[in-house]
Amino acid sequence: MTMLPNADGFFGEYGGQFLPAEVLPVVAELAEAYERYRDDDDFLADFKRLLKHFSGRPTPLYFCGNLTRQLGGARIYLKREDLNHLGAHKVNNTIGQILLAKRMGKTRIIAETGAGQHGVATAATAALMGMECTVYMGAEDIERQKLNVFRMEMMGAKVVPAMSGQRTLKEAVDEAIAAWVADAGESFYLLGSAVGPHPYPEMVRDFQSVIGREARKQILELEGRMPDYLVACVGGGSNAIGLFHPFLEDEGVRMQGVEPAGRGLTPGNHAATLSLGTPGVLHGFKSYVLQDDKGEPAPVYSISAGLDYPGVGPEHSYLKDIGRAEYVSASDAEAVHAFFTLSRSEGIIPALESSHALAQALKLAPTLGQDKIVIVNLSGRGDKDVAQIQRMLHEGTITDR
Ligand SMILES: *Cc1c(COP(=O)(O)O)cnc(C)c1O
Repeated sequence: MTMLPNADGFFGEYGGQFLPAEVLPVVAELAEAYERYRDDDDFLADFKRLLKHFSGRPTPLYFCGNLTRQLGGARIYLKREDLNHLGAHKVNNTIGQILLAKRMGKTRIIAETGAGQHGVATAATAALMGMECTVYMGAEDIERQKLNVFRMEMMGAKVVPAMSGQRTLKEAVDEAIAAWVADAGESFYLLGSAVGPHPYPEMVRDFQSVIGREARKQILELEGRMPDYLVACVGGGSNAIGLFHPFLEDEGVRMQGVEPAGRGLTPGNHAATLSLGTPGVLHGFKSYVLQDDKGEPAPVYSISAGLDYPGVGPEHSYLKDIGRAEYVSASDAEAVHAFFTLSRSEGIIPALESSHALAQALKLAPTLGQDKIVIVNLSGRGDKDVAQIQRMLHEGTITDR
């Protein structure tokens, strides 16, 4: 299980490289470079140094005493990825990929972004490394996420609107890939989640696995044993696989990925890909996909802009099929309830994405004994969501309980 993917980039039947002929050599160059540097001492030393001094790792594993008492069940710990520089786990991956880009001699970074979080992390690391940075973003998303667009521009990135289709994340990925292929000599495509063609799912997982490696060590120090459950939200699946992967061989550790059930599990109202999707191909890889009757990616929705993707990382599809991890969902209302519950009980405002994982922990913990341990990945902080929550409260579309 931990040795996957195979040489062709497959986790069981999922993953691979389903790409037009002109893209294959570009992806092959990347796969070769990653093979060359992934175990290189200098590369790993640079990665560790920036994780520590640029992003502030290791992040704490925090025991939620108040919330645990309130729920009366399992002991709840948070892996505090919200305390990373820029407020989320995304920077773990952008640091790793940009170091690889440098070693490949690339001068220009290309990235896609949905809500803008990955774009901001990419712009920051590109500024750090003195590299040119272009971020493709759906024209709709640019309207909705003006503050993140401004952040990227402040750090010297160019934000290019994707004008085709629904003008959101899917179109931004399409246009980023096209730009990459057109300038393959100089450009590096810095992908934001554990999705896309091989080697991205493996590479992003490896960079994000620092989350699980730290958590494993920290829980052993704090509790002297392995946790009973790991819980993480799943958009593309990078924070979840980063937490899960280092625990895959620990048989007693159960894993739950939490997808957005949005306004309800009816077409167009959610993005619960593993719960309701079917195997298909999207953006160059095979995985569970939410598809319409014609096999086109279906429209998706979530209150949290970082979770609304119609696909999911191929390793999660594999873990679902073999039963090593289970995938559940949490609705907008449940996520909002968890958002306020953590804010009030612990003085920590979670990202709306992470609130989906918390919502599942709120359901799970009371069903378990007080001797059980649950680790929730707090993938990001909620400051970016406060204005949206305030507006929705004002409009009466949500309540603060
Ligand atoms: C982007 C984002 C996610 C979703 O991405 P994954 O690849 O599924 O981890 C989750 N939480 C936060 C805070 C994010 O910014």
